[in-house]
Amino acid sequence: MDRLFIEAKPVIQQLKNAGYEAYYVGGAVRDYLLKREIHDIDIATSATPLEIKSVFPTTVDVGIEHGTILVIYEKKGYEITTFRAETKYIDFRRPEDVMFIRSLKEDLQRRDFTINAMAMDEEGNIIDPFNGQEDIKKKCIKTVGSPTERFGEDALRLMRAVRFVSQLGFKLDMGTEEALIEQAPLLQYIAIERILMEMEKLLTGKYVKQALKIARKTQLHEYWPAIFKQDHVIDQIVEMPIEELDNRHLWLLALYLCKTEEPQKQFKKWKMPMKEIKKLLRALTFLNWRMNSKWTNVQLYRAGKEIAVMVEKLVQVLQYEKPQSIEAIIDKKFAEFPITDRSHLAITGTDILEWTEQTPGPWVSQLLNQLEEEILNKNLPNEREMIRRWVKGWENQSRDKC
Ligand code: ATP
Ligand code: MG
Repeated sequence: MDRLFIEAKPVIQQLKNAGYEAYYVGGAVRDYLLKREIHDIDIATSATPLEIKSVFPTTVDVGIEHGTILVIYEKKGYEITTFRAETKYIDFRRPEDVMFIRSLKEDLQRRDFTINAMAMDEEGNIIDPFNGQEDIKKKCIKTVGSPTERFGEDALRLMRAVRFVSQLGFKLDMGTEEALIEQAPLLQYIAIERILMEMEKLLTGKYVKQALKIARKTQLHEYWPAIFKQDHVIDQIVEMPIEELDNRHLWLLALYLCKTEEPQKQFKKWKMPMKEIKKLLRALTFLNWRMNSKWTNVQLYRAGKEIAVMVEKLVQVLQYEKPQSIEAIIDKKFAEFPITDRSHLAITGTDILEWTEQTPGPWVSQLLNQLEEEILNKNLPNEREMIRRWVKGWENQSRDKC
């Protein structure tokens, strides 16, 4: 058994000693059977949230209304959820109302896919009423019960289906795929943040091409960020050697391929952190430039190491070459630069103002730009006194011009 299960065993045992049922459930059981790395353990129990709290001294109410309590045991947190059935589904979203129940099977029945609807007891015995193990063998993603009903209850499951394709390389069961085609439009009722979270996992999956092809076939991508909506964007991406790219690269690639006039508009609805959006837009500018030009020291410096690497990886992919390890080459270039950031200059804008006794204005930043270029091109050393003389020279020249 995996180390994480062994560490969590006393938690299950304490619930059992108190007279309740308790099992490992969901993703951890699936990943254990698949021999994939397990990252978090979920426990389901017949104990109600209040009963869970009475068993453990240290708990946090993380989602008590949905039956989830965080139990702190040996400095680790475990999410323990009461067996529950979900009652009313409103607007194709997960229900607000839940009903606590005492039956494990019913709890497993509310779960999305057979591979996610298994439990394991503390001895390692698998409880699998919906044949999840068989579907693991068949490499098949299949809803528990009618796919039409299950997607209709909670349309996020549409995204989850395709995201698991990307992570596991499984196929969709025929009925599940047909329902996906029929019900793709329900995704419009799902909160953007939730779609985005699934999107990030999908784009990080090892089998992302397979998932993108299914999204295209079922038209699920119509309800994705605008960048991914156009058919040709996905058609091109699935033909490219994208295996080494991470999710941020894929966002940038789609942004580049969708050739929009106003790239910032593409992010308007999508609640990505502003910092991420700005980075992508900056990278796009450099990528557009780089597709027709070669790097100079100054352009590399202006892009910065992170964006330069990102852009260079994409240039290779856009030329249908498998990305080589270019980090080392760019690292070496940057290591040769006398400065790699404005803060490395031996002087500041304040020094320039003092030396010139002129009034502040945009000219200071322009002069700093010029100065950076001189230093990068090794026309001037990054030394205070040398720079002071250079500034004085510039001042005399501009005075002469007047
Ligand atoms: P991951 O490896 O990304 O954590 P996971 O399957 O564990 O994948 P979670 O979101 O952690 O996904 O959910 C834990 C379990 O809860 C799932 O395995 C599944 O049994 C159930 N579950 C999660 N989301 C849904 C949903 N939208 N509908 C039905 N069951 C769900
Ligand atoms: Mg999980």
